[in-house]
Amino acid sequence: MIEEKLSEILKIEEFRIRGFLKRRVISKAGKVGKAELYRLERDAGGYEQGTVIVIGEEPKLIRGYPKIKRVLVLTPTIEKHFHSIPKVGIEEKMNGYNVRICLIEDELVALTRGGLVCPYTTHKAEEVIDRAFFVDNPEMILCAEAVGPENPYVPKDVYDVRSLGFFVFDIMRDNRRVPIKEKLEICDSYGIKTTTFFGFFSKNEAPKEIMKIVKRLGERGREGVVVKDPEMRIEPLKYTSSESNCGDLKYAFRFYNDYGVHFFLSRVVREAFQSFEWGENEEERSKRIERVGKNILEPMIETIERVSRGEKIGERVTLRVRDLNVIHKFQRHLRRLGIDASFGEIKEENGEFVVEMTRYYTSTNDKTKSILEGGTWS
Ligand code: ATP
Ligand code: MG
Repeated sequence: MIEEKLSEILKIEEFRIRGFLKRRVISKAGKVGKAELYRLERDAGGYEQGTVIVIGEEPKLIRGYPKIKRVLVLTPTIEKHFHSIPKVGIEEKMNGYNVRICLIEDELVALTRGGLVCPYTTHKAEEVIDRAFFVDNPEMILCAEAVGPENPYVPKDVYDVRSLGFFVFDIMRDNRRVPIKEKLEICDSYGIKTTTFFGFFSKNEAPKEIMKIVKRLGERGREGVVVKDPEMRIEPLKYTSSESNCGDLKYAFRFYNDYGVHFFLSRVVREAFQSFEWGENEEERSKRIERVGKNILEPMIETIERVSRGEKIGERVTLRVRDLNVIHKFQRHLRRLGIDASFGEIKEENGEFVVEMTRYYTSTNDKTKSILEGGTWS
């Protein structure tokens, strides 16, 4: 039954679907109304990880958001990658988490990258996204970055957002991304916020322009840019500021045993290529070297100090909701993701409920403890 429906929607033979289900490449992703949701846990059958299949009144396919490749040197990469078009669009790359907001069985839902409905994100999206958008465009999917301080996954204070805001960077229609101009016009007409658009630039001005923009963004603690084909036919590229790379390093080294080696290595590599391309003088280079080193060692030393004092390594975030039920649903959601978190006392504040969540990084905690008690690295 289910196999047949999945096969029809995904246009993949039934025997392969059975294999996917058995190996958990496709798995159940909960219910919305009467509809059953399934998701792809990794890239398969030509679909991206996080692709969601809705089996309900109206079968629906919501593709996963594709990975964006990274530029390490702007010249000649921009020219080479976008060789067939004259101009590129430059947008701010905001640092939060990726959500796809869409209508399923007449309910507005926010799907996270992995293809699960996040109850907290959905609740926050319902507050700020004008329903009229979906009344007029029920088939469209808003791809947005969820940013702000009251953010359970990537808390950041660098944006002008009080709790959790949504900034649309793409609209998907018929599983294609709409052209940049059209996206901006549509969002504007519904009062939906978008990531900052810096303009269209010819490919030979683009590298210089990107360097300027990224330097400015970096000074404000912001992440970087995404370079896009105005028509959204060629896949985009991303490029980030040194401050953002270092911010990532700082964060990941604080929880050093919970992150993969690739995460660290790729960020150090970016810094080296950026330093080279930007033709830094001795002083600028020294500053970068110091910045990178500091953001690697300092957080780790602090972690060791904390553990040695008997503290448990974790991160604290404030969550704010209008409906208490959302907190309970969100706790279940975190358990499902295998995230270890504890919640403080729930307080009422101007008709809203506020709660402090602490997320634990158990692996870093245990590893550090074991080393301090005489264990070896491996
Ligand atoms: P990966 O590095 O494996 O692609 P990731 O999600 O960590 O995964 P990021 O480095 O964060 O990748 O870059 C891609 C993400 O950037 C997108 O998934 C999206 O959530 C986010 N993003 C922020 N602003 C934009 C924008 N203007 N255009 C496109 N994506 C954006
Ligand atoms: Mg990101």
